Amino acid sequence: MKKVIGADRGSWIRVERESDFPVQNVPFGIFSSEGRSARAATRIGDTVIDLHALAMAGLLDGLGINPSVFSHDTLNPLIGLGKALCRELRCRIAEIFDQDNPVLRDLPGKHAGILFPVREVKMLMPVQVGDYTDFYSSIEHATNVGIMFRDPANALLPNWKHLPVGYHGRSSSIVVSGTDIHRPKGQTKADTAEFPEFGPSRQVDFELEMAFITCRKTDLGQSVSTAEAEDHIFGMVIFNDLSARDIQKWEYVPLGPFLAKNFGSVISPWIVTLDALEPFRMPGPPQDPPVLPYLQFEGDHNFDIRLDVFIQPDGQPEQRVCHSNYKYMYWNLVQQLAHQTVNGCNINPGDMYGSGTISGPTPDSFGSMLEIAWKGTRPVKMADGTERKFINDNDSIIMRGYCIKEGLRIGFGEVRTRILKERE
Ligand code: MN
Repeated sequence: MKKVIGADRGSWIRVERESDFPVQNVPFGIFSSEGRSARAATRIGDTVIDLHALAMAGLLDGLGINPSVFSHDTLNPLIGLGKALCRELRCRIAEIFDQDNPVLRDLPGKHAGILFPVREVKMLMPVQVGDYTDFYSSIEHATNVGIMFRDPANALLPNWKHLPVGYHGRSSSIVVSGTDIHRPKGQTKADTAEFPEFGPSRQVDFELEMAFITCRKTDLGQSVSTAEAEDHIFGMVIFNDLSARDIQKWEYVPLGPFLAKNFGSVISPWIVTLDALEPFRMPGPPQDPPVLPYLQFEGDHNFDIRLDVFIQPDGQPEQRVCHSNYKYMYWNLVQQLAHQTVNGCNINPGDMYGSGTISGPTPDSFGSMLEIAWKGTRPVKMADGTERKFINDNDSIIMRGYCIKEGLRIGFGEVRTRILKERE
């Protein structure tokens, strides 16, 4: 079945040249507008399209999708219908909004209740995240951390090139872009101190990540192969995995990340489908030594997604601190899902899988303040004269991501969060 909406297709909805959301994107999200409950939507340009209203107007008839699927406050029921049906839905949406299709374009009073300016709606969490895993799949990031905290000569631990290292995170604290997060409190211990102290973290950091979301249920005991994995992956969002480095440093031995990682992780509101990302596939870095058979794969599963991180101090302009790319990932998403399930661990629609911090080869492409300011030894100079080793109170962190090729731009919009002082 055709996955890609033709690159030459235009829409009767206005799309600015720099927009992340041409008619070729058709992402999915959940929104609310004044006086109406949350429901499913897509977006073209700066226009949010109410899919429940579109279905009630009969425009999605014949797809075999019950309109009630669009009236939930999560996309879990919709994406749980599977990729084949969602693919047909995307194609139908592209048809309805094709510049030459008069059906809705020329319908009297057509906009009322179906189309909303993006500035007039509130975007909500797109899925209910049942389970959340965070990987550690960027070789540049893992190497940087290894150099900083262990041994430059043996920066990668012996397992790193043999399996996609990960941990099970917490889903309750995954929130949508626009949610402010209070500085976490917890235990920290200075290297020179005998005992730990309690107080607000002094080292709040971001982690630039992408996350993929699964759309199929598997049974306990079942494994998903690398060949099958993309049938289970609905799409991706940008993921800011906020981290408290000082809490992390003290608590993580021997069981790994805990309270340093679950005080808020922030995602972009629109799930961009793998189908929309199809034109931007590319090979990943070579994997040497060769991986075990269950991690081998056919085809290209990296994507050329340009990623930027900005810090915006209160009342100041935003300042870019990182320019990275998802294409650097050493372990790709089909390997991650195959590894997640190789032992028979079951998965569900709405589960989320973070890539791990996405660092590139050069210092301007490092995906966390820990690396950018190199453990505080290379502070970043801000336009207002202040310096940043980590994130200050009232700083906003903004991440944006998009693909571009031969004039076609498909993007994720942004994920934005402000760090507030600790809660009293
Ligand atoms: Mn992370």
